[in-house]
Amino acid sequence: MGNTKYIFVTGGVSSSLGKGIIAASLAKLLQARGYRVTIQKLDPYINVDPGTLNPYEHGECYVTEDGAETDLDLGHYERFLNQNTSQANNVTTGRIYQSVIEKERRGEFLGKTVQVVPHITNEIKERIQLLGKTGDFDIVITEIGGTVGDIESLPYIEAVRQMKWEMGDDNALVIHLTLIPYLSAAAELKTKPTQHSVKTLMESGIRADILVCRTEHELSEDLRTKLALFCNVKQEAVIQSIDASTIYDVPNMMLEEGLDTVTLKKLGLKDTTKPDLKQWNEFLKRHKNPKAEVQIGLIGKYVELQDSYKSILEAFIHAGAENEVRVKVQYIHSEHINSNTIGKKLSKLDGILVAPGFGERGVKGKVAAVQYARENNLPFLGICLGMQMAVIEFARNVLNLEDANSAEMDDKTKHPVISMMEDQKNITNLGGTMRLGSWKCEVKKDSLASKIYKSDIIEERHRHRYEFNNKYLEQFETAGMIATGVNPDTGLVEIVEVPSHPWFMGVQYHPEYKSTVANPHPLFVAFVKAVNEHATKKK
Ligand code: GLN
Repeated sequence: MGNTKYIFVTGGVSSSLGKGIIAASLAKLLQARGYRVTIQKLDPYINVDPGTLNPYEHGECYVTEDGAETDLDLGHYERFLNQNTSQANNVTTGRIYQSVIEKERRGEFLGKTVQVVPHITNEIKERIQLLGKTGDFDIVITEIGGTVGDIESLPYIEAVRQMKWEMGDDNALVIHLTLIPYLSAAAELKTKPTQHSVKTLMESGIRADILVCRTEHELSEDLRTKLALFCNVKQEAVIQSIDASTIYDVPNMMLEEGLDTVTLKKLGLKDTTKPDLKQWNEFLKRHKNPKAEVQIGLIGKYVELQDSYKSILEAFIHAGAENEVRVKVQYIHSEHINSNTIGKKLSKLDGILVAPGFGERGVKGKVAAVQYARENNLPFLGICLGMQMAVIEFARNVLNLEDANSAEMDDKTKHPVISMMEDQKNITNLGGTMRLGSWKCEVKKDSLASKIYKSDIIEERHRHRYEFNNKYLEQFETAGMIATGVNPDTGLVEIVEVPSHPWFMGVQYHPEYKSTVANPHPLFVAFVKAVNEHATKKK
């Protein structure tokens, strides 16, 4: 194929309509027809990356292979496409400005006045085309965060307008995702907010090519005609996106609505093959027809907002389908676990996962949950902070190091079983000082990990500052907690296990980031299998 084609996805009327899922679903359909596709997210906030954002505000921070801390939509892109993304796939206003200001300081603008137009817009256009220019992709889908009409989206919208003008309608198209609200008092779907939002786009010089309409009820033919006429799009370009029971249904729904066909037609691309969704549909079949159900407790402190643990929840869906088991995740706030409540809160569970996290709050409850799992032979998986909690619990209750702690929670503890790497200690600036992205891990022979991974060397993604303190390793191993995964270059502990327990594993890395529909993560698959076996035995 010749030039890379660009698709822009904008949002109107309301936020949280699922632009990421629509972008990922369209990408899936195009990929399933043999096109090479990638997706990019542009975020209009001023943080340089979402790494410093509170999960309550923005959901999980997703980490790519190259260690970029990114928007959680990139997780959907990877899970749908089974393809890695990178720093280039997520750009924020903060990063754009940072880069323009650095250029200004270097004198690259030759004394010119630096302005939003053209300097910021040019930087945006450059970032959009970065992926296209690699030659690796036929189509780049760019999702513009926020809602049309927002002050902070304006430079992005202007950049899109310029790109459409420069490239022509065959090479760049705009999909506008909008909401068709249902007024129950009138028993009617309303198109007016969409008309206004399309007009707002027009005021910025952009004509939407395709409308994707989020709705709780079917759009009638009449309504589609009305939307087409008043929003200035072809009728076939009015696409209904009705609420789905799972996000994994959306590619098939978009296929039925012809989103891929109309996209290809507008871009002047061949529409000769049917999308091959065989593997995808097999996954869906298993996901929807489980033979058993298990209860897994997710112990964390951000449980009020499910988006905080997005990748973990999705990894359970993939692993559940693989095992033909429905995984019911019970959210348990770590601050609500204490000696009075623990039995009531945890006794009905078939397995326990202690989640990643930062800071002191809720640590007591997490340690108590690990102890419960360890002493009651409940399958246990600790991820990142969860692994560190498992180490602290073991130190306190098995090694009898009463005040064992992580230096993150108590930097004066006598027994910092989790501490900071020497070369990190002088860094005080919080942004960008973590061990991030993909690191190698050597897996010990005959361990649970080696049975699961079936490989001596694995690579997993990280996002943390603190590490297992190797000064204590011998003491731990003698007492029965073994390091079965170690970084070959630094000796840092990556995996701990308790071999006398039926299934107990703590991992310093985040396996959830690498689980996709096509490749459910082996650790999650094995954990769900162990949880299911435990549940079956209990009956
Ligand atoms: N707070 C811990 C650390 O920085 C764990 C981080 C995490 O769970 N992602 O090491």
